[in-house]
Amino acid sequence: MNLLSTMHSHSTYCDGKNTLSEMAKAAYDLGFVSFGFSSHSHLPYKAGYEMKMEKEKSYREEALQIIKEYDGKMEILLGLELDADSVKPDFKYDFLISSVHQLHTENEWYAVDDNKEQFERLIKAFGGIKNVVENFYSQTVTAALRENIDIVGHIDLVGKFNANNDYFNPNDEWYLKLVFGAIDAILEKRPDIVFEVNTGAISRGYRTTPYPDLPVLKYLAKKGARLMLNSDTHAADTIDYAYDIALDYLKKAGIKTLYRLRKFGFEEIAI
Ligand SMILES: [Zn+2]
Ligand SMILES: [Zn+2]
Repeated sequence: MNLLSTMHSHSTYCDGKNTLSEMAKAAYDLGFVSFGFSSHSHLPYKAGYEMKMEKEKSYREEALQIIKEYDGKMEILLGLELDADSVKPDFKYDFLISSVHQLHTENEWYAVDDNKEQFERLIKAFGGIKNVVENFYSQTVTAALRENIDIVGHIDLVGKFNANNDYFNPNDEWYLKLVFGAIDAILEKRPDIVFEVNTGAISRGYRTTPYPDLPVLKYLAKKGARLMLNSDTHAADTIDYAYDIALDYLKKAGIKTLYRLRKFGFEEIAI
């Protein structure tokens, strides 16, 4: 079945190509049951993809207006995708996604997911890929355990440029120990948190399978973690991108149900 939902979408308020209303219309035309606006939050430094602090108020106002327009037609929820370093929002959003896109040394920030060149600068600055991975998962845990987080975004984003195992083998024991350890630490305190299966890197041509990698997905399933499918769409023509691929992939991992966020909360549905 088609999940007909995503809580992860970007617009011209951050690094997306289309306006909030173009995104909502595209989801509605696909027959979506629920759709979430999740602009990148503003950041205490310049990364390029973030929403400017002065825009957050109009983001909320415009989103709330669109939510009203679609009342009775499609459920739209208003959220934010927070980075590890985002300032705590002073508004009660319908949902919050916690994601790690940047790691930092004492005085510099490095993008994990921008391009290979940046990723290699990051590895150099941290003295090796193992240090990068360790730092990434430790940030992921701290960020996910902040107050009011509903969804853990693309948990193994650190593998974005590793589709051909150029930087590490994602089946190596040291790697799996770090990612499984992070999952355990999050679930211990937040067994209700929802981990996303994210097709965003497929739509942008970086990967042929969603996040997370299969061993990670299987581990999440074994631990009984709640999972949801999100497209992390940055344009109106990728709202449900690769959902068919993702569903096959999920079934291959033995997953039988997923969660979908509605206005009343998360609902479990069979796939
Ligand atoms: Zn993200
Ligand atoms: Zn995103």
